[in-house]
Amino acid sequence: MSAVRPSDEGVPADPAVPVLEMRGVVKRFGDNVVLRRLSLEVRRHEVVVMLGASGSGKSTLLRAVNLLERVDDGQVLLSGEDITDPRVDADAVRARIGVVFQQYNLFPHLTVLDNVTLAARAVHHVARGEAEALGRELLARIGLESRAQEYPDRLSGGQQQRVAIVRALATRPELLLLDEVTSALDPVLVGEVLDLIGELKRSGSTILMATHEIGFAREVADRVVFLDHGRIIEQGPPSSVIDHPGEPRTREFLARVL
Ligand code: ADP
Ligand code: MG
Repeated sequence: MSAVRPSDEGVPADPAVPVLEMRGVVKRFGDNVVLRRLSLEVRRHEVVVMLGASGSGKSTLLRAVNLLERVDDGQVLLSGEDITDPRVDADAVRARIGVVFQQYNLFPHLTVLDNVTLAARAVHHVARGEAEALGRELLARIGLESRAQEYPDRLSGGQQQRVAIVRALATRPELLLLDEVTSALDPVLVGEVLDLIGELKRSGSTILMATHEIGFAREVADRVVFLDHGRIIEQGPPSSVIDHPGEPRTREFLARVL
């Protein structure tokens, strides 16, 4: 069986430069300050899991990285390049980042294979044959090659999310952002999606994700970041943040979700 491709192929590899660096990022919606001088680094091949109550700013942070939200202050650097510079081409930045949300990720009117190959063909101008070869390889990796010509609504929610994740990899992004990708799934389907993410980590992907799956975070995260009202109040290896949290708010949160 072929491995899922590492997500960072073709990128000038300077391991000293973090894939993502957020420096003093501020984001407001009116009077609501959602990110409060937040700084965060994600290094190559690192899996960073964000935990935090609903409304703590996890999705806004991920959307700011993908330039779906413009930050009000601070900088976001992608492999050393300041992507918050207004002269930066947002589409070119987004082409370097893979994103999967909680739900509605696939285009319902496209086959599974076309979903997986669309960005490679349309954004990266990869020839159809080459894109489809990689697309089939990715689908084979998740055991869905035989479903390539079907439409997404024929697949289970877990299968759809796994397709969405390999689709995000088809363009070999530098960074993969996953926002509660299992939250909308039937509990019996959560495991297959988490297993795939674990496999991506082993193949070297660089991942920043938000999840409420504490068990998964404990097993797979290199670092856990705990957000509270737009601030990182605690971060470190899961063995410290999850098993021995220092902050009362982290303890309260964990007591509620565990
Ligand atoms: P989380 O993902 O941790 O649940 P969010 O980033 O979704 O948190 O939300 C953080 C805060 O930002 C919340 O108070 C939310 O109401 C607010 N917010 C998020 N998106 C918008 C928006 N587009 N307009 C106004 N307020 C928003
Ligand atoms: Mg969210």
